Amino acid sequence: MRDIPRQTTLRQWDQRYEQMQKAGVAQPSYGGLLSRHIEDGDTRLLKLRYDNSAAALRLWNFLLTEEDRLREARDRGKKIVGTMKDLGTVPVMAYSLDNVVAFYPDGAWWTPCVMELNAGLLSIADSLGIDESFCPVRAMLGAFVTGSRFPIPELLICSVGATCDDFSAIAQRLDGLGYPILWWEIPHRRTPEPGEESVKLPGGFSAPRCQVEFVKAELQRVRKALEEFAGQHLSEEKLSAGIKKANQVRRLLADLRRLVFGARLCPMPALEMLVAEMLAIHFCSDRDEAIAVLKELLDEVRERIKEGTGLLRDDAARIFWVNPVADLQVMNLLEDCGGRICGTEYMFTHALDEIPENLPAMEALAQMALADPMVGSLADRASRICTEIRRFDAEAVVISRIPGASHCALEGQVIGEIVQAELDVPVLEIEVPSLTDSIAQALRTRLEALVEAVRERRKK
Ligand code: SF4
Repeated sequence: MRDIPRQTTLRQWDQRYEQMQKAGVAQPSYGGLLSRHIEDGDTRLLKLRYDNSAAALRLWNFLLTEEDRLREARDRGKKIVGTMKDLGTVPVMAYSLDNVVAFYPDGAWWTPCVMELNAGLLSIADSLGIDESFCPVRAMLGAFVTGSRFPIPELLICSVGATCDDFSAIAQRLDGLGYPILWWEIPHRRTPEPGEESVKLPGGFSAPRCQVEFVKAELQRVRKALEEFAGQHLSEEKLSAGIKKANQVRRLLADLRRLVFGARLCPMPALEMLVAEMLAIHFCSDRDEAIAVLKELLDEVRERIKEGTGLLRDDAARIFWVNPVADLQVMNLLEDCGGRICGTEYMFTHALDEIPENLPAMEALAQMALADPMVGSLADRASRICTEIRRFDAEAVVISRIPGASHCALEGQVIGEIVQAELDVPVLEIEVPSLTDSIAQALRTRLEALVEAVRERRKK
């Protein structure tokens, strides 16, 4: 059941859902009215606008049922591992075992937004000495202490080293509270010395061979811990099969991003695209279903492009967005202001790049971990952002700062200067807290001014 593409409110979605039911449109087991998630306390959903396709409904229901899915997995005898910080590498290993489900407790980052602070997770973090001088990932502490968000994993694995101070401090606090963590080190990726053996990583960065070897040894420790945890041998064959599956997700996302960011009329809004990209990091706790959800979304996008339909104005300003927003509503706001997303760097581009399938599995995974844009220099990160801006022909850049995030104090300015020097496109830096209601007007004014600047430049 297809309709003219448009964005709808939660209540309109419910009416449409009833129509879909009457028309006999099949729903997955986790399907249903989107508004039922309000009963779980996800009140921000009332203020968002959604794409009206069945594919988008499936995507949202998939996202919003993750915690139920984790509990069901545990009831079915699966073991649950919490992977933290590396965003995209350790879950590929964990999902290569057939009795393990991995997820990122870091995802509690968005709970203060989705529940509009009602879960009290940030107050709990405050009471544990992790106050607002830390980024919203501190909500994770509250989620562990209350046990109300996700089932507490039996094993926790966290990367340290070239990670932000926020995460290191919060994860150490968690460990101190009685949630033991297996730490593995990711070094700061450095430029190879002249004459030093180097490796070209997926995504284009380079690293010295010795750093790849070091990460491989660290991941080997993780592999051993996962084997003991699962009571299974994690063979090369299993890892290779896991990498192939992860690449299926990454290829679908690559197609989706290429088509959506490149289409004349925007065929899928920014919010749904943000959620879709997030599926890359741990498959929303069900790898096969994540693939099915992305396939349906991609089919919808292809169909819309073929029909010449889409959303937003056809002259919408093409915006490249850097960093994820703590308040999801800001993605809607950008579109209200006359923009559309044409390119993103949400801090996990390494989870979108394909993992080499022609290398031994641990070598390939070590290379992926080192390709993380957040473990290298800002210049590296900015150069990749420039490449992507060119690729998607973006006309302006928004860098959204994350309140309290240690890396955000100066990175926006540095990235902005590099981008402007290289590409001469307007750059806007804004700060997006978990709830933006009180600053919505100021954000709107700044985003509208950016869109206006893009329109003016087109006249030249
Ligand atoms: S400070 Fe940045 S990188 Fe660190 S946990 Fe927060 S958002 Fe992630």
